[in-house]
Amino acid sequence: MRLHEARAIAEGASGRNGGFGLRGGAAPYDVTAETIGRDAARDYWLQTEAALDRIASLAGDAFVRTGSLRLAADAGERDELRVEYELLREDRFDVEWVDEPQGGRSHAAMFHPVDATLQPARFVRRLAVHAAEAGVDIREHSRIDSLDGLEAEHVLVATDGYPSGLLGPLEGLIVPTRGQMIATEPLRERLFDCPHYGRNGFDYWHQRDDGRLVVGGFRDFALHEEFTTDETTTPRIQAALESFVADLAGRPLRIDYRWAGLFGLVMDFLPVVGRVPDTENAWVAGGYSGHGNVLGLLCGELVADAMLGRPAPRLAIFDPTRLL
Ligand SMILES: Cc1cc2nc3c(=O)[nH]c(=O)nc-3n(C[C@H](O)[C@H](O)[C@H](O)COP(=O)(O)OP(=O)(O)OC[C@H]3O[C@@H](n4cnc5c(N)ncnc54)[C@H](O)[C@@H]3O)c2cc1C
Repeated sequence: MRLHEARAIAEGASGRNGGFGLRGGAAPYDVTAETIGRDAARDYWLQTEAALDRIASLAGDAFVRTGSLRLAADAGERDELRVEYELLREDRFDVEWVDEPQGGRSHAAMFHPVDATLQPARFVRRLAVHAAEAGVDIREHSRIDSLDGLEAEHVLVATDGYPSGLLGPLEGLIVPTRGQMIATEPLRERLFDCPHYGRNGFDYWHQRDDGRLVVGGFRDFALHEEFTTDETTTPRIQAALESFVADLAGRPLRIDYRWAGLFGLVMDFLPVVGRVPDTENAWVAGGYSGHGNVLGLLCGELVADAMLGRPAPRLAIFDPTRLL
């Protein structure tokens, strides 16, 4: 087995993301239940819980089971969260309702105890070590421009938001979307014990062990500008992140790091996993809509089963042909 990476391991989104390891899909549970049916949604959520457990066993100290807090920024979002919370409870998922999170700064929140914080680059490098030990030939700085001549029985294109040029009729349907982040100076005080995210995921942040606040989002401040393959930061989003983090800390903070990366957005917020239409031996796994840390592992395992000819009925909800 061979892995071709145009850059180096963990230099795509997997090495530069927010480090949230979340149960579930990219859309809320109730919305997903409407899209794919309640039984399928429940099964999907349970699979992501199992994937989190597998990440815990693979990632070592790059994984900490902190739980996560999904915040409501206003009364409308609070009502939406409540609907999702009720359904999660009815379907026997472990979730807690919090009435006045952050000392009342947010309207309400759901605490997800199974969620985790990841050091994503370290996790991915560990995965690469496991793969190399299992005999995978890893070739970095090796961009593939055509599937012809690869001499492989099967090829999996797993480039999520990074346009590969290899997806035939699916090219461009997993939409490259820029996410921007900052990391502050280390703080002495402990402000946040777990990942926080609100405004439908448009703001997200957590505090690392070294005290730095890592904050991302605010894509909605320039929504159209962020549908791009350009991985540079922009003054507008960076200014929004900077003022948001000053507000969180109660004072302006020095920003030590700024960066951007690409993730693959899909309009129905479901991953795109399966055979690439109109090809003999090409497969795709991507389109995690900003939730690839857990979904990436899960979908990788599902597609591997299919590529090996084993039954993979769970792939039906991620069928790539739905995008055509
Ligand atoms: C700023 C930001 C914050 C995020 N925060 C979170 C988060 O907190 N939690 C979460 O779950 N998800 C988050 N995500 C999404 C998550 O990072 C991705 O969904 C996930 O990392 C995708 O993993 P992947 O291995 O499929 O793709 P990637 O890690 O993006 O890797 C794709 C690789 O494909 C390579 N490539 C592209 N074309 C070719 C080619 N032709 N030949 C060879 N190689 C090629 C690229 O070089 C790239 O390294 C975030 C994303 C961003 C950008």
